[in-house]
Amino acid sequence: MMNKRVTVIGLGNSGLNAALLLKDVGALVRVTEAALNAIVLKNAAILDTKGIPYELGGHTREFISKSELIVVSPGVEDSSPAVRWANELNIPIIGEMELGYKLCKGKIIAITGTNGKSTVTTLIGEILKGGNKDTVVCGNIGNSLCGEIGRINKDTWVVLEVSSFQLERIVDFKPAISIILNITDDHMDRYDKFDRYFDEKLKVFKNQDKKEILILNRDAKELAGLEKKASSKVLYYSRLSKTNGSFLKGAAIVCAVGQKEEDVCTLKDIRLKGLHNIENVLVSVLAGALAGVKPVSMKDTIKNFTGLRHRFETISVIDGVEYIDDSKGTTVDSTLRALESCDRPVILIAGGKDKNSDYSTIRDAVKSRVKCLVLIGEARTRIRELLGEVVETREAATMQEAVELSRGLARPDDLVLLSPMCSSFDMFKDYKERGDVFKKAVLGLGMK
Ligand code: ADP
Repeated sequence: MMNKRVTVIGLGNSGLNAALLLKDVGALVRVTEAALNAIVLKNAAILDTKGIPYELGGHTREFISKSELIVVSPGVEDSSPAVRWANELNIPIIGEMELGYKLCKGKIIAITGTNGKSTVTTLIGEILKGGNKDTVVCGNIGNSLCGEIGRINKDTWVVLEVSSFQLERIVDFKPAISIILNITDDHMDRYDKFDRYFDEKLKVFKNQDKKEILILNRDAKELAGLEKKASSKVLYYSRLSKTNGSFLKGAAIVCAVGQKEEDVCTLKDIRLKGLHNIENVLVSVLAGALAGVKPVSMKDTIKNFTGLRHRFETISVIDGVEYIDDSKGTTVDSTLRALESCDRPVILIAGGKDKNSDYSTIRDAVKSRVKCLVLIGEARTRIRELLGEVVETREAATMQEAVELSRGLARPDDLVLLSPMCSSFDMFKDYKERGDVFKKAVLGLGMK
């Protein structure tokens, strides 16, 4: 990278870390950013201290025209003029994660899928740390790979959450272990076809060969036959059948890597709720075993792992009604999984920013488990059209109203579940704020 003219597109945290890393390795780096807001200004001030040039509030063709390489932040789409010009000028384009990969000495465990990435990434990170492995957890989960390169050496395990957007712009990216959890309908506002979204996820193993490992969810029908497309050594995890990898044997979580079959823990040790979380534990212990963590150590970690906030998190029980925050349930499939984890009648609060998802696929689960649907946000009309006929449906203008309405509808032993099937950006900054507003409204009920 020494003296190479590199332009970074995007000055969010990933773009900033990419630029700082490039500066560190001697590149002639500059940054172009379309927006002009508080985050961008704060990051630009950091560039100032390093003498890195930038343009903000819009891209210009001139700014990028002499570049030898373009590094694109994950949030920037191909339709961005800066990306278009780079293509017209035949300048090679890579993503931030590919740049991090090129400079990463550690062993990467890459986790991708539609749902469960953050949970599995965090749990694998905890398992490795519990086994005294030098571990860095990063990627789509919040801190970019580029920002962590300084902490990574050749013995470090890099547990990397990878989104399909990041995979769009890889070239040589080759993890030691790639994991695909599931691939269901998501981001249909960004991808014109499901097939294209599906294919992007498969890139996580496209550069692997037989020295590397691919872990697949045997129970996910959509992943069946994928091993034929991979040159990697393929292992599986399954809740439903014995596999070469990890599986459930009665109530025992068992790992079978090579000839040895080892019990790691039992279902009673898992504090997370829901069948999908058994899958998450199965895949995590398989990765842990491959990294050489002992079963007793994994069992300890699993016993202590209570999961992440806003993922099927119980907020409170008020007058016998349990309130659950699953604000991170931003896809139809994640809400389906949440409903499958509910063993009592549900008042479901759903809706938000529509991602052009097919809500009708959840119809049967709604019919059998949901007592009343309380809809919020932009997507409420479409959801009502697709689900309104199978269940009583109400609408609310705010989260506060939705919670109060739900309370009125709920009887003791019912569940009130926020699992929106949609992103949050129509009403909130992000899913965390949405979950926090829900929590505040719920705790407010307890005061009355
Ligand atoms: P991601 O990072 O892929 O968005 P999270 O771990 O943040 O995944 O979970 C997102 C949502 O998906 C939550 O609603 C959670 O309850 C649900 N979920 C978690 N693991 C799985 C899984 N293995 N399959 C389906 N849904 C899951």
